[in-house]
Amino acid sequence: MIHIADASLFIIRKRLEGSVITVPSVVEELRDESSRTTLELMDVRIEPALSSFKKKVKTKAGITRDSEELSGTDIDILAKALEYSEREDTVLVSDDFAVQNTAIQLGIRVIPAGQRKIKDVLVWEKQCIGCKRRFPEGDECPVCGSQMKKRRKASSKK
Ligand SMILES: [Zn+2]
Repeated sequence: MIHIADASLFIIRKRLEGSVITVPSVVEELRDESSRTTLELMDVRIEPALSSFKKKVKTKAGITRDSEELSGTDIDILAKALEYSEREDTVLVSDDFAVQNTAIQLGIRVIPAGQRKIKDVLVWEKQCIGCKRRFPEGDECPVCGSQMKKRRKASSKK
């Protein structure tokens, strides 16, 4: 069994039997020490998503209208799950509703990482592409005026 995991697995620290694979952008999202330690202890394989599968995911996400909810990381993890599910027994592990929904549309088997809703674990914030400051919302940085991008913030809320 191949598990393709997004950040929620490492934050919740769920233990799984079998291989665990994730994408580099998920690793970048894990800001706190305990999530990163969990990733190391699980002996996770980190593989970049393939552009051909990203394209398939984006096409499908456009149809299901989840595209605005899907981050670049979500697209990567879905692309990786799609790639593996075409040739192996694969399950995507995610607590993100938009990811789960798109996975179902793509015919990918999906299970949640935890019982808690994703918003209790992961919250969104905006990060300026210029000065890298972070803000809870907005499209333009109030400090330097650069564009801001949506990104996930790992919450320490227990
Ligand atoms: Zn800025």
